[in-house]
Amino acid sequence: MFNNINKLLESSLQLEEPWKITHAEFKEEGAAHITVDVKKGAQFVCPECGGEIKRYGHEPNERVWRHADICFFPCYIHCKRPRVMCPHCGVKQMDAPFERKNSHFTLQFESYAMLILTDMPIEREAKILRCDDKSLTSILHYWVNDAVEKRQFNDVTTLAIDETSFKKGHQYVTVVIDSEKRSVIDVEPGKDKSAVENFANKFTEKNGDKNNITSVTCDMSKSLFSISQHADLTIDKFHVKQIVLNALDEVSKAEQKENENKLVLFRGRRLFMIPEKKLTAAQIASTNALSKAYPKTGRAYRIVSSLNLFYACEANETAEIAFNKLHSWMRRSRLEPMKTAAQTLKIHKHNILNYFKNRLTNAICEDINSMIQAAKRKARGFQAFLGFSSMIYLVAGKLQLNCTPIFR
Ligand SMILES: [Zn+2]
Repeated sequence: MFNNINKLLESSLQLEEPWKITHAEFKEEGAAHITVDVKKGAQFVCPECGGEIKRYGHEPNERVWRHADICFFPCYIHCKRPRVMCPHCGVKQMDAPFERKNSHFTLQFESYAMLILTDMPIEREAKILRCDDKSLTSILHYWVNDAVEKRQFNDVTTLAIDETSFKKGHQYVTVVIDSEKRSVIDVEPGKDKSAVENFANKFTEKNGDKNNITSVTCDMSKSLFSISQHADLTIDKFHVKQIVLNALDEVSKAEQKENENKLVLFRGRRLFMIPEKKLTAAQIASTNALSKAYPKTGRAYRIVSSLNLFYACEANETAEIAFNKLHSWMRRSRLEPMKTAAQTLKIHKHNILNYFKNRLTNAICEDINSMIQAAKRKARGFQAFLGFSSMIYLVAGKLQLNCTPIFR
């Protein structure tokens, strides 16, 4: 019944002539150990010149790789990899068919780890695969980086640039999306000008043509330096909202100072930041009561609400009318922070209104953003930028991973 178990193990390690399993043993402590070797005088092809050569010896020390579990028990592969003597190139070390340079895991183990990583938080996966999350991070980083490096930008025509925080909001990454292909094409550390500049450099290095870019969606700070002169710029809806919300916050902070009943408004300020759709009935009642008790904050809050009405417009023309109305309301609101915000909005009016032209692009970016939030949850074990950025690429980058396919 079990006479071809050897074959099963060999094919799981992708062993072909002259590679053979010479010993397999289940040890009492609960792990399988498999020894792989090559016969004396076996034929090889020189890794450097491609000439036919023979095995001449092996490396002095045995190496061990972790392989996929056997019947839920961890499995280790032991091997002293052969050396060959080439008349042209001298002594050469052969690689084992199941190994990747500098990894203590077999290619099959790594492929399986990558397969699960797409669906599972890293900490949980580390438990299931019985390995540490550092090793998983380096496997993830290697395969993602391998695919990212090979990607070219010659057919990219639409971009969306956004930022997201990690490490409990203390650090940021800038994410660049190809909105036409609905995938993340770059992740840079930080959220300042240099992040976009880094991307712009990479874009050119990888055969991207700035003149082909027809549309860019981003926030106002990034719009100040254009990636392409030909691109029609759209200011992100969320960043416009943020400008008005910040103004509301300043208004209510100032009004809080003027009033004695500070604590009530202090607690209420957080309520005003919740998107209207998400407010419960009790929260709506509280915001109404606070708006009455603090008239300036109330006025600012009504401006924020009407921003939602502006974004609900369907046609370009109605959106422009709504924008002008909102702008003049903010300007005449007698609330200094709102007046300043009105100025900012006016400067970017054209780019803000572009939102209505590129509605689809924005919906795509919102979808990808929710994938990034999921990546953040999966990467919870990661502390470093590399782990976080690799996870974003993995879930939202549509990568062509080159690891061995596990299921055929
Ligand atoms: Zn050679």
